[in-house]
Amino acid sequence: MAIPDRVPPDDPRYRAVVDKRFNKRFSATPDYVRLARSTDDVAAAVGDAVREGRRVVVTSGGHCLEGFVSDPEVKVIIDVSAMKRVAFDAEQDAVVVEAGATVGDTFRALAEGWGVVVPLGEYPGIGTGGHVAGGAFGFLCRQLGLAADYLHAVEVVTVKAAGDPEVVVATRAPSDPNRELWWGLTGAGGGNFGVVTRQWFRSPDAAGRDPATVLPRAPRSMTTFRAEWSWAELDRAAFARLVRNHGAWSEKTAAAESPYASLWTLLALHRAQLGKIVVRGVSTAGDGAVRQIDDFLAALGEGTVAAGNREQAQMSWLQFALDPFPDMFAMPPGGVSTKVKDALLRRRLTDRQIDVAHDYLTSTDHDVMGGMLGMASYGGAINSVVPDATASAQRDAILDLACNAGWLDPRDEAKNLVWVRAFYRDLFADSGGVPVPGDRYAGAFINHPDADLADPALNTSGAPWHTVYFRDGYPRLQRIKARWDPRDVFRHALSIRAPAADE
Ligand SMILES: Cc1cc2nc3c(=O)[nH]c(=O)nc-3n(C[C@H](O)[C@H](O)[C@H](O)COP(=O)(O)OP(=O)(O)OC[C@H]3O[C@@H](n4cnc5c(N)ncnc54)[C@H](O)[C@@H]3O)c2cc1C
Repeated sequence: MAIPDRVPPDDPRYRAVVDKRFNKRFSATPDYVRLARSTDDVAAAVGDAVREGRRVVVTSGGHCLEGFVSDPEVKVIIDVSAMKRVAFDAEQDAVVVEAGATVGDTFRALAEGWGVVVPLGEYPGIGTGGHVAGGAFGFLCRQLGLAADYLHAVEVVTVKAAGDPEVVVATRAPSDPNRELWWGLTGAGGGNFGVVTRQWFRSPDAAGRDPATVLPRAPRSMTTFRAEWSWAELDRAAFARLVRNHGAWSEKTAAAESPYASLWTLLALHRAQLGKIVVRGVSTAGDGAVRQIDDFLAALGEGTVAAGNREQAQMSWLQFALDPFPDMFAMPPGGVSTKVKDALLRRRLTDRQIDVAHDYLTSTDHDVMGGMLGMASYGGAINSVVPDATASAQRDAILDLACNAGWLDPRDEAKNLVWVRAFYRDLFADSGGVPVPGDRYAGAFINHPDADLADPALNTSGAPWHTVYFRDGYPRLQRIKARWDPRDVFRHALSIRAPAADE
């Protein structure tokens, strides 16, 4: 097939690329888009853009939460989503996944082909090309760790100092001279060193060459549940007790050895305006799942209002993974605009923070229906990996917290941003408005990027944004940047910067 050339704005394929972004808050108007079907196509597209002096970005699944792809400064978008092949590569003894395969495509191919899994993220539409480089956690993270922990090798189109594209394969083999590039792509986030075209997955401790054993077995069954509280039943004290109970449970069950490591949960503290607080979760414990869920919900309800309207279902791994919690991920026609402000917690919220949460969730001077505070299970096997084994430095968190705002009408943007920014700033007021890594916080997760962390008005902690995301790994990432992207072709608001000449 001929290499697809520049697709101009009047071509329907242009619109399909520009409009596929999940977060409608941002938009781009590139001069043209390129639809790549192979690594050679990507190299040609990158080479052309650099030669033409046009700012270029790549998109895979379009699920960026910030405007890194949908940026008015961007002149060329390379879309790799037609590159979707998933196969076993007998040379690397690993499963190779092209960067355009989504999380759902990959789960399906792994499960149907060999009954195995990589613990990718929660939403089937996410592209693996932008996802794995940010560490990537999902429903199975407490048992299996991050998806990046399984990254064995990666193929990347980089740009040399002279401007020519180069196709590089970097592996985790200690003897590989390109190993540092592999390391950078286990946690620096998408859009940094080049265009990822293929990723190979294999468990770090796998032996043998059988595709059915080089990766973890997929769960035999999934038990999902949902339960809720009505805000009308919860006064401030009952709310505080519920959130405290949840924190205590999360601390108690955080270890990889916990009998509850096979239970993953998400507590969604919606605005009182919406009327409900919802908890969802999933267990892979088979016959033991109901008991785990009973114990969890009993712990949450201790000394406060018990959760009501419990629903439960059992299904196969694949059935769940391809359509998880349909009520949670359902999108209105035209999609939503959103702002997500993430933090990784090492301990439960303090009583002061719970009070702040109550204030922001119940305040009537804010009309922000889509606002919420979410807390998802973290820890377990993620924390069994030493911090510098990959560039995903946070190996000591127990919860991933997010203050979220979502709206449909662009006119509602300003009030939603005011609310969500003030909420997050007040939650982390004890450390300059952001979760500075230390006793209580592990930092933040780069797959949920928040450009506010680089804004001195919103981050008054004195800790730069890159410390919050990469902790001690940043200088190493900077050296990788200088080596592999010396012209800073691949950049965005939170991309790795090469060290300054005097550093
Ligand atoms: C609804 C939703 C649910 C999510 N759930 C999770 C979750 O459970 N776990 C989790 O870890 N994250 C989650 N995320 C975040 C997601 O992992 C990141 O946004 C990820 O970067 C998306 O990748 P993408 O290819 O879909 O996005 P895109 O918007 O296409 O790209 C995102 C970034 O990666 C870069 N990029 C894309 N493709 C490539 C490539 N081939 N090579 C190099 N850089 C590339 C882009 O240039 C951009 O900077 C979620 C996001 C959404 C919107």
